[in-house]
Amino acid sequence: MPRALADCRRCRRLQHQFNRLRVQYPDYWNRPVGAIGDPMSPLLIVGLAPGLHGANRTGQPFTGDASGDLLFSTLTELEIAGRVQITNAVKCLPVSNKPAGREVDNCQGYLRAELAQLAGRPDATVLALGRIAHNAVLKALGKPQNGCRFAHGAQHEPGQGIALVDSYHCSRYNTQTGRLTPVMFQQAVRRAAVCAGLVLSGSDAGGLQAGSGANG
Ligand code: SF4
Repeated sequence: MPRALADCRRCRRLQHQFNRLRVQYPDYWNRPVGAIGDPMSPLLIVGLAPGLHGANRTGQPFTGDASGDLLFSTLTELEIAGRVQITNAVKCLPVSNKPAGREVDNCQGYLRAELAQLAGRPDATVLALGRIAHNAVLKALGKPQNGCRFAHGAQHEPGQGIALVDSYHCSRYNTQTGRLTPVMFQQAVRRAAVCAGLVLSGSDAGGLQAGSGANG
């Protein structure tokens, strides 16, 4: 993890929360969580933010909770678990799981750096998990959100040679309410993996079409 990220204290509300959590959960990570995975991968998966008992406990995005279980089981089924990079739009645990707009903005520099590393690679692709991640990626790329709206399964071309694929976030809430099924999720992840050249396009991409998808 970059030192600047490890030492970041920009969001005071989140720092106050960490101070409380270090007392309540002294064994938890309780700090900014950086990216994991292959830093040279053409596929960057961008989630929302660390979960309290997941990444905020382990120090690694999408580990230790239901969201991570579904993401990694899906990546494993597609045989790409070790060939992607995974991060979050907001690197610190948000209050009540909802980052304030200012906190998303404060964290843009770190996401921008991750996208800059990705840009220029052949088949550079971002899989955005949820609307907030989608919007954060567009903003970090300097692209307006109108004309490139979030929709589950949709694929966009926001520029800088990067393809952007959307999926509903693989949260327990979305899976328990039926908003996102494992099949729906695998279709979206597969689509991103095909864009990134990690999975052959001849396999079933779930019938998803460019620019299409369920509004989310
Ligand atoms: S959310 Fe991002 S900008 Fe805010 S304190 Fe954490 S790392 Fe820094």
